[in-house]
Amino acid sequence: MQNVSVIGAGTMGNGIAHVFAMKNFNVVLVDINQGALDKAIATIDKNLERMVSKEKITADQKSAALNNISTQTDMKSGVQKADLVVEAATENIELKFKIFQDLDEHAPESCILATNTSSISITKIAAVTNRADKVIGMHFMNPVPIMKLVEVIRGYSTSDEVTNAVTDISKKLGKIPVEVNDYPGFVANRILMPMINEAIISLHEGVAGVEEIDSVMKLGMAHPMGPLQLADFIGLDVCHSILNVMYEGFGNPKYAPCPLLVNMVEAGNLGIKSGVGFYDYSNGPKNAVVADNFK
Ligand code: NAD
Repeated sequence: MQNVSVIGAGTMGNGIAHVFAMKNFNVVLVDINQGALDKAIATIDKNLERMVSKEKITADQKSAALNNISTQTDMKSGVQKADLVVEAATENIELKFKIFQDLDEHAPESCILATNTSSISITKIAAVTNRADKVIGMHFMNPVPIMKLVEVIRGYSTSDEVTNAVTDISKKLGKIPVEVNDYPGFVANRILMPMINEAIISLHEGVAGVEEIDSVMKLGMAHPMGPLQLADFIGLDVCHSILNVMYEGFGNPKYAPCPLLVNMVEAGNLGIKSGVGFYDYSNGPKNAVVADNFK
């Protein structure tokens, strides 16, 4: 297996392309938006350069990795030689259905179709294709080059062969695969998102401020990042979508997104990717300050 196509060049897609390229896979990064592709290549370049300056890789390894990546705005040309597709487009079920129908049409018959979805049913996505046995969840964590976990999610019809292949590829990438079954939010987000939502509810109800909530979880629970800052890193729109999938999937109001989160998403304050969320990132993530709305 050598040819990997990554669909979606946003927060996750650039990281996924980065780790495959570092392990000498031929990567085609596909996005409908040329601007997103340009930004992704610039991000990968910057992240690889940081590794060179820390002497974790050589300048030659950096240029080899960059040479392994090409970009495409046309899905058909982007996947026609793929052995594996990892879909990392926007978290929206109708969009994923459309993308998987197109992938099924244009990718080679033997190609494995993996999705990086945070919460959408693998079984439902697989059902829009004619190869449900080859559809699987390959859920990387953010930031992809750093985080070790890959949650490998078996849909109802995913074959053992495909599960084993994706487990092996994850190990080749230097990741640690953990196999889970297909229920809303899988394991990672079923546990993480209620915590983030509860942090937002605590802020909304005035229990404490942004920094206080994050400090309690960092200092008291040894979390490297507070839940509000983590939500900004993940993207508030992504958190909102995942909570809605769990809310609808389980029919349980405990997963309903906090009204403050809903308002922030509607206002376009999505966290790092939009420049402001619970924190303001105008001077970069390292110099983030509490956003004006929460002062
Ligand atoms: P993002 O909003 O940063 O990027 C999504 C990209 O998909 C955009 O560049 C957009 O142009 C592109 N896109 C939209 N429609 C497309 C299409 N039809 N074809 C090709 N590209 C298309 O989103 P993200 O945060 O990178 O999330 C991507 C996926 O990864 C989602 O399913 C999300 O749930 C999942 N995920 C996100 C995180 C996280 O921390 N952000 C973590 C794990 C998994």
